[in-house]
Amino acid sequence: MFMHNKRLQYTVRVSEPNPKLATLLLEQFGGADGELAAAMRYFTQGLGEDDPGRKDMLLDIATEELSHLEVIGSIVAMLNKGAKATLSEAQKSEAELYQTIGASGTSAKESLLFGGGPALIDSAGVPWTAAYVDSRSEPTVDLRSNIAAESRAKIVYERLINITDDPGIKEALGFLMTREVAHQKSFEKALYSIEDNFPPGKLPGIAKFASVYVNTSQGVGDVEGPWNSGEQWQRVDDIPGSLPFDEGGDGTASVTLSGDEKDAYDRMTVRLASDPAADPLTGADLGAGPGAGLTTNGDKGGATDIKEAAAKADALAPR
Ligand code: MN
Ligand code: MN
Repeated sequence: MFMHNKRLQYTVRVSEPNPKLATLLLEQFGGADGELAAAMRYFTQGLGEDDPGRKDMLLDIATEELSHLEVIGSIVAMLNKGAKATLSEAQKSEAELYQTIGASGTSAKESLLFGGGPALIDSAGVPWTAAYVDSRSEPTVDLRSNIAAESRAKIVYERLINITDDPGIKEALGFLMTREVAHQKSFEKALYSIEDNFPPGKLPGIAKFASVYVNTSQGVGDVEGPWNSGEQWQRVDDIPGSLPFDEGGDGTASVTLSGDEKDAYDRMTVRLASDPAADPLTGADLGAGPGAGLTTNGDKGGATDIKEAAAKADALAPR
């Protein structure tokens, strides 16, 4: 069960209201890398986890993330306090209220619909979605995703700290950012506490494909590094000469159809066959003007000679 402690995990000291900053901070409240996404990610993983150590860690961190949601939501509420009160009491002129709502940046919705309370939206007003949680119920996969999620949360906090000049908010965001660093370390330890954690899952990779690097983008800009060259890699530079990578195949796609399916397929391909010998007059030919380039029906606006086409186009150019 959950209990609630009325004290925050970190004290929130906001020097003055700032609805625009509140909107930006919503990124870490209801955004993709925000605290609700983190809490739901670890809470659902924890419920499904069978290993007692990981289950305990996931529920600890999930609950801490809810506490971070509480801190960031409290900052948003403080930043919106003035605007919320003046709007709800209509204590300013229409023009001044209009100005206040406009000051909250991209999301007037935050003021009008949510009245300045912390809403489960991101800094652009996009509602929170469970699609932000990408768990697959396999610890060697989910722990890697969690490590990436913590590093994303860290960098978003870093950017928010860089745009904030309020010392109390800077301090609280610095705390939240640092906790993501600590969480990343826990997830890394938990991942490497699983002795064989790579590749993820149980099935081994196919040995002859597992160390191949395919150099598909060739030319100026080719760089060799430990990610594509050296003892670990079998590098493929002659790609057409290597196709297909399987042995004994011809590199085409095939399927075996039933008799009825084959009959229908043959009728369909005959009906939809294109005729490479046809040169039909089309709407583009018939309606061609001087800018049409080469067309089949050159005596209209188009042209059958490239010089004539260029001259016609030139006559259209602005002088
Ligand atoms: Mn957090
Ligand atoms: Mn975290």
